[in-house]
Amino acid sequence: LSFAEAALCESLQKNVTKSGYSKPTPVQKHAIPIIFAGRDLMACAQTGSGKTAAFLLPILQQLMADGVAASSFVELQEPEAIIVAPTRELINQIFLEARKFAYGTCVRPVVVYGGVNTGFQLREISKGCNIVCGTPGRLLDVIQRGRIGLTKLRYLVLDEADRMLDMGFEPDMRRLVSMPGMPPKENRQTLLFSATYPQDIQRLAADFLKTDYLFLA
Ligand code: AMP
Repeated sequence: LSFAEAALCESLQKNVTKSGYSKPTPVQKHAIPIIFAGRDLMACAQTGSGKTAAFLLPILQQLMADGVAASSFVELQEPEAIIVAPTRELINQIFLEARKFAYGTCVRPVVVYGGVNTGFQLREISKGCNIVCGTPGRLLDVIQRGRIGLTKLRYLVLDEADRMLDMGFEPDMRRLVSMPGMPPKENRQTLLFSATYPQDIQRLAADFLKTDYLFLA
């Protein structure tokens, strides 16, 4: 399966090729069609497997296909996708990859993380955001302050979920999915990535994903 066969559109294929990716990694091969099919996914994937592109590419393509730009002019701070990861380094890598793939498209990703002043991040948000990448605490803060709204949210991605649990972010993750305005799991597509699959991750999957979610190991 090539990226073209994975039904990626030309502008994304071009950006993927520019990134030096010639063919999809195994997790990309398996996850991309599942995400295009609209299914919830619990994927066991290590760092280095290419999991970031596996969830970014189908989300980007669907947002492009739906012409998010037109609607973004009306409600600028209503992202269609939220991506959560445990550390500033990790979420920034995801953001940079999203920005690289989204280059030249109508989709605008932004990033928020703790430990720095919110000023710059809020200004970036105020310019419009289709994809908000964030660490759990700062993301909750930005939502609680009403700086982003959840009415358009369709995708929720939780990356390195096992590390988020190890770092004590379970309450934040649970708060996030029960925020006022957060679409219930039936009305969003949720993608959970984790290097390991212990009981507490299985419980998160049961709580956050639709009952018919797919499991990829
Ligand atoms: P990740 O597992 O998402 O952190 O990605 C690990 C590294 O592999 C990153 O530096 C990516 O840029 C790179 N990568 C992801 N997908 C591919 C691909 N299909 N071909 C070559 N490199 C890739």
